[in-house]
Amino acid sequence: MIIYKSEDEIKIMKRAGELVANVLLKLESIIKPGITTEFLDRTAEEIIISRNAKPAFKGYLGRISKIPFPGTICVSVNEEVVHGIPGKRILYEGDLVSIDVGVQLDGFFGDAARSYKVGRAGNKIEKIMQTTWDALNDAIDKCVEGNRLGDISHAIESRAATNGFSVVKDFVGHGIGRNMHEDPQVLNYGPAHQGPLLKKGIVLAIEPMLNEGESDIEVLKDSWTVVTRDGKISCHFEDTVAVTSKGSTILTRL
Ligand code: MG
Repeated sequence: MIIYKSEDEIKIMKRAGELVANVLLKLESIIKPGITTEFLDRTAEEIIISRNAKPAFKGYLGRISKIPFPGTICVSVNEEVVHGIPGKRILYEGDLVSIDVGVQLDGFFGDAARSYKVGRAGNKIEKIMQTTWDALNDAIDKCVEGNRLGDISHAIESRAATNGFSVVKDFVGHGIGRNMHEDPQVLNYGPAHQGPLLKKGIVLAIEPMLNEGESDIEVLKDSWTVVTRDGKISCHFEDTVAVTSKGSTILTRL
């Protein structure tokens, strides 16, 4: 069941989203070769707690994992797709790192992800980052009343395919509100003009995950980290977006 949000609820969600955006900006500013992923995690947690919010992922029980997620953020490097656990891993020059941040503030959730290069990176990384970002923006452009959910999914798949990338099919975007994951599921592929109509008050976390190689993924023994089966790189961007009577509002951008 899709839960539609009032304008007042969307205002609260905007505050949660802005906190997520600020955390991501801070992390972007400290990413450099030699730092550990747990340093990023600690930095994010300090900011979230200082704003009287809660890290949304910490302690989360996933649909696969029976182990609560141990980190505040998900940090996924190179062939890791999503849900990487922060730890002692050191970031090296030329790595591609995706950071997913979720918070709960005043009863509502905000959720966004950005991918960054560590130091200088090759053309391959530049291209997958640009294409995934473009796919997210194409999808957001479809978030207007009267369109259908499939228009979002199709926009992502089309942008990926025209640039030679595959999309991950086993993980999807989602509705978001008082729960981090609500209906509907937002697939990163599929036909246009199908699925539920987009109506005022729907709030979606849209999250294209693009792979350099095949779309197949597997989950590591830690029961969280999702990696590409072929070991090629993957990229992830995400924003929380509200459909309003005046078009769409991206809640997780400043
Ligand atoms: Mg999400």
